Amino acid sequence: MRIEEDVKLDFKDVLIRPKRSTLASRKEVDIKRAYTFKWSKRTYEGVPIIAANMDNVGTMDMARAFIKDGNGLTVALHKHYPLETLIDFFSEYGGSSVWYSIGLVQDDRDKLKAFLESAPQKEGKGIDKICIDVANGYSESFLDYIKGIRDMIPDDITLMAGNVVTGEIVEELILAGIDIVKVGIGPGSVCTTRKMTGVGYPQLSAIIECADAAHGLGGRICGDGGCTVPGDVSKAFAGGSDFVMLGGMLAGHDESEQEIVTGDDGEKYLAFYGMSSDTAMKKHKGGVAEYRASEGKTVKIPYRGPVEGTLQDILGGVRSTCTYVGARQLKELTKRTTFVRVTQQINNIFGAG
Ligand code: 5GP
Repeated sequence: MRIEEDVKLDFKDVLIRPKRSTLASRKEVDIKRAYTFKWSKRTYEGVPIIAANMDNVGTMDMARAFIKDGNGLTVALHKHYPLETLIDFFSEYGGSSVWYSIGLVQDDRDKLKAFLESAPQKEGKGIDKICIDVANGYSESFLDYIKGIRDMIPDDITLMAGNVVTGEIVEELILAGIDIVKVGIGPGSVCTTRKMTGVGYPQLSAIIECADAAHGLGGRICGDGGCTVPGDVSKAFAGGSDFVMLGGMLAGHDESEQEIVTGDDGEKYLAFYGMSSDTAMKKHKGGVAEYRASEGKTVKIPYRGPVEGTLQDILGGVRSTCTYVGARQLKELTKRTTFVRVTQQINNIFGAG
């Protein structure tokens, strides 16, 4: 057994130090990024925020809202849409606003294969990016799986895969053909991995260390999980995240494709749950497999209306961060950031809101 003594940080442990700035207003800030990916050679341009591939966040309605918003945010569609529904969606909107998600199961691969033969794919309106998602990106079979997928798909499809939290495995994944490595084990709002297993890594440090490893090889990372307020999204970008994936912050909206229920208090609520919670497993797999404990929870959250207002808050927050440190473009945020370690960051005297 060994103990690592140096402190690892979460978003709540730091603030971003303001710097002298010539920017007069946040309107002057450009929070879009442009990337050309290492393996697919495709280019991406937009605000690099991704709605998580959870069945109450990574929805087609969310994708429609993002398209309407026009800032180039993308949605990792959850993997439970039937093939026909996916074909209809891509025929109408093309693939540029969404990631096609797969896990490790054979059914996911079969569905992907079928989609790659479908009409939208042949007409150039198909999948251009895929998100391969597993709870534990450290197993050797995962690396083989990734190589198998790389061989199965056209070379110009961008691949994102995870989740991991340490630099050495980021390097391995990138060398195995991954364009973007997804970073985060245990920080999620409805994740119980840390509670059930004791495994995890403070998310801001994971981002900083993994970004360093990825960028050295021309790869990219996506910080996934743990953002609770717009300031956390800014900290993730400032720490070196090329993309940031959001679950809980985008949950509870009209676009969640969930039933809205009225509570005894007369307020409206929606269910929000982790993708490996009992709720999700019952819904999609008919129960929790005996050998695996559920590592996600189910919560009831207040209904928040259309996602549009929340997006304005998040994008406005990130723009404002850039103004405080004098970053005219989001691209400059990391090098203009000095994190200050703190023992308190938010004054909650009148509640956490
Ligand atoms: P959030 O933005 O809500 O803090 O985190 C979203 C992320 O939590 C997702 O993108 C995914 O990586 C992770 N996640 C979603 N459902 C579960 C789950 O049931 N268990 C675990 N361990 N992680 C989950």
